[in-house]
Amino acid sequence: MSIAENLQEIKSTLGDCKLIAVSKTKPKEDLMEAYEAGQRALGENKVQELCDKAEDLPKDIEWHMIGHLQRNKVKYIAPFVHLIHSVDSVRLLKEINKQGKKIDRVIPVLLQMHIAEEESKFGLDEKELDELLSSDAFKEMEHIEVKGLMGMATFTDDEDKIRREFKSLKKTFDKISKQYNDDKLNLHELSMGMSGDYQIAIEEGSTMVRIGSKIFGKRKAH
Ligand SMILES: *Cc1c(COP(=O)(O)O)cnc(C)c1O
Repeated sequence: MSIAENLQEIKSTLGDCKLIAVSKTKPKEDLMEAYEAGQRALGENKVQELCDKAEDLPKDIEWHMIGHLQRNKVKYIAPFVHLIHSVDSVRLLKEINKQGKKIDRVIPVLLQMHIAEEESKFGLDEKELDELLSSDAFKEMEHIEVKGLMGMATFTDDEDKIRREFKSLKKTFDKISKQYNDDKLNLHELSMGMSGDYQIAIEEGSTMVRIGSKIFGKRKAH
């Protein structure tokens, strides 16, 4: 099936959930094929690749940074990134705020939560999230808008385990949406679900799925 057909098939099952087409490692022609099919939200996980693609491709593409972000690279995406999904420390948040201030832009972010039982994944735990959101440092960050949470489930065939992890993220999301909500915290987005588990994620309350290989085909090891 073509990229356009894959997109159409996936979109027909998403309801109100937003689709981020994850185009990492794929050539610009593939991204253009998705664009021609009407897809505007694209996700990348490396700053250099994201900037390179953004420079050459149409300006109305919404670029989503979904991968681990190093602080010294924030400045390259700060002017145009649509949403950073992968904020996993106060230090990174501070740097994003600093770069936003320099260019007078409020930068939309999601906080990445550690939900997988696997150890290698990045993200905050609940205690760290609470500390961050209630800290004075956070209250002073005027160039950040936290729009929600992101999480990645364990890579496994065990659907019950995946579901448990998504459920726990949704529970945290509901809790903090009630507890904190002001100008800087505008918690509406829950970014969870990838090619292998997005149906479960949607059932568990995802508002944004990040789908790559199911649209663009398998990636070579990166
Ligand atoms: C690569 C990636 C995806 C997409 O993965 P697929 O399994 O190809 O759909 C989603 N989220 C993040 C954070 C990724 O790095």
